[in-house]
Amino acid sequence: MTKTGPIPAALVSLDALERAGLADPADRSTLEAVAEEFRVRISPAMAAVGSAGVRAQFVPDVRELRVVPEELADPIGDGAHSPVAGLTHRYSDRAILHATQTCEVYCRFCFRRETVGETGHLAEAEFGRVLEYLRSTPAVREVIFTGGDPLVLSARRLASMLDRLEGLGTLEVLRFHTRVPVVAPEKVTEALVAVLDRALPVWLVIHTNHPDEITPGAAAALRRLSRAGVPLLSQTVLLKGVNADVDTLEALFRALIRNRVKPYYLHHPDLAKGTGHFRVTLEEGQAIVAALRGRLTGIAQPVYVLDIPGGHGKVPVGPGYLRRAQEHWIVTDPQGCDHVYRDL
Ligand code: SF4
Repeated sequence: MTKTGPIPAALVSLDALERAGLADPADRSTLEAVAEEFRVRISPAMAAVGSAGVRAQFVPDVRELRVVPEELADPIGDGAHSPVAGLTHRYSDRAILHATQTCEVYCRFCFRRETVGETGHLAEAEFGRVLEYLRSTPAVREVIFTGGDPLVLSARRLASMLDRLEGLGTLEVLRFHTRVPVVAPEKVTEALVAVLDRALPVWLVIHTNHPDEITPGAAAALRRLSRAGVPLLSQTVLLKGVNADVDTLEALFRALIRNRVKPYYLHHPDLAKGTGHFRVTLEEGQAIVAALRGRLTGIAQPVYVLDIPGGHGKVPVGPGYLRRAQEHWIVTDPQGCDHVYRDL
């Protein structure tokens, strides 16, 4: 048996970041202003990686203080579609459950950065009202546990919530959106995996943005999950200074399929406050996605999507390969060459 030492603590203060060499004491006064505005937490696994593409996601940056009027506190409109506390019901067949606001890391680009933090988990009475709403709304067939990060909850608490959701008898699928298997893989314990292996299918969508996040520990956690038959998808945010180039994304998506994770969504960055330094244009995003199409196997291609600001939903944003030309279509191949196609 391999001997492991105690797991180091997460870095949650500027003092801790400076001691770890992740922040410069010379920047202290400006970073204090950032940390007052947006929470700081870097998990031991991510602090140990420390590469530029990983650090940029978690280490506070003075540019976060630049907020433009178009940036929103709730960019995708969670609040506008919340029938009861803790639940967002935007699309008829599925609803998002905010079981906690806590995360193992606080990402500097997070679109829920105004709400995430150690503010406690969804109270039992609130969960009761969520169950009542779902009971009276059988059109909802899928419940999506999301951020904060639902896998910070104990296996026992999760089992209790999942049992009662299953007991409604109206759901077909349960889904988790989480960074835990990558940023805190030691939390993917056998007890947690056992909770996810149940009668109703539980799908896991892993949020990961850089190939350096797929450490041996993360790979082992993903293996534990796939062995239990949990279908694994990924979501990635396109971020300048982290992954907004073809080589980095190719390496990430290849690493994911090697670990039995199907790349699902590539998100255009949301208009969250103080995140302008991460933002790319839609045209830049489309060019990267077009280049990936020529290079990567189909199973490693995510869909490039934009969450329309204000809560109007998520749509694919290209690039397009098809355009109308009078009586026929012009189709562009992955190398950029056009071809005529006619409907018969
Ligand atoms: S909700 Fe997700 S993206 Fe936001 S801070 Fe938590 S882990 Fe990061």
